[in-house]
Amino acid sequence: MERLPEILNAFEQALELERELGTRTVECDRALLLPTSPGGTRSRASATSAPTNPEHRTPNTEPRTPNHEPRTTNHEPRTTNPALPTAAELTACTRCDLHGLGRTHVVPGQGNANSPDFMFVGEAPGADEDRQGLAFVGAAGQFLTKMIAAMGYTRDQVFIANICKCRPPNNRTPSPPEMAACVPYLKRQIALVKPKCLILLGNTAMRGLFPDAFVRRGQWQTYEGIPAIGTFHPAYILRFDSARDPAGLRKAKLEVWDTLKLALARLGKKPPEIKKKGQTT
Ligand code: URA
Repeated sequence: MERLPEILNAFEQALELERELGTRTVECDRALLLPTSPGGTRSRASATSAPTNPEHRTPNTEPRTPNHEPRTTNHEPRTTNPALPTAAELTACTRCDLHGLGRTHVVPGQGNANSPDFMFVGEAPGADEDRQGLAFVGAAGQFLTKMIAAMGYTRDQVFIANICKCRPPNNRTPSPPEMAACVPYLKRQIALVKPKCLILLGNTAMRGLFPDAFVRRGQWQTYEGIPAIGTFHPAYILRFDSARDPAGLRKAKLEVWDTLKLALARLGKKPPEIKKKGQTT
């Protein structure tokens, strides 16, 4: 509750960045791009519908380019453990059809591979991730970055990966066979990276890792001895219409934040203190 302004601010920054870059990978509430008036309200530009399905990925119809070598230039550290699935290994993978359905780059995942406190698991790469070969670098990724920051971490202190390493056409949800074919790579990553806690972003991540269990958001599971907890996918939050359903948006954000606090508490940690405006120490 007390962090809501910070999360909302983070959300605005993520969308601002997305606007500056001139790319849009998710449908989002454009009213949230507008500056907040002194009274705390916004004027509206347009509205999009509130999401009805938390797991619905927004189709992206931009033209595709043929497969080529993954990019290696990025500020994020490349994972150093040679036993981890590499872009080269994944590029050669033909375990499911996704390798031939127009992906540009495989997206192995990246970050701290040396027993980080948290590993975040998403669904599959979107357009931005497919272009860069890095997980969660689009709008949803910007929001995830802010979630991580609100917890007191940076992206390179945690590990970020997906159930599927190739982008499904039109950002559709990966099929059960695609998930089953790809999840062994994630399982290998978890076994090697040894995160202290897994945070599963959305139903696909929860189903991918626990295919035989009914996993509820916010409830602890154990994966190979590692505590795991699920919450909404960041893209779900980004698709809310704040004007039509402000209460729903607020509820969803609070639920995410409550789950992140549960994850911190599981490791005996608390979120960092919020600095008030103008406060220097
Ligand atoms: N959505 C995901 O689930 N994963 C990404 O890497 C990006 C968007």
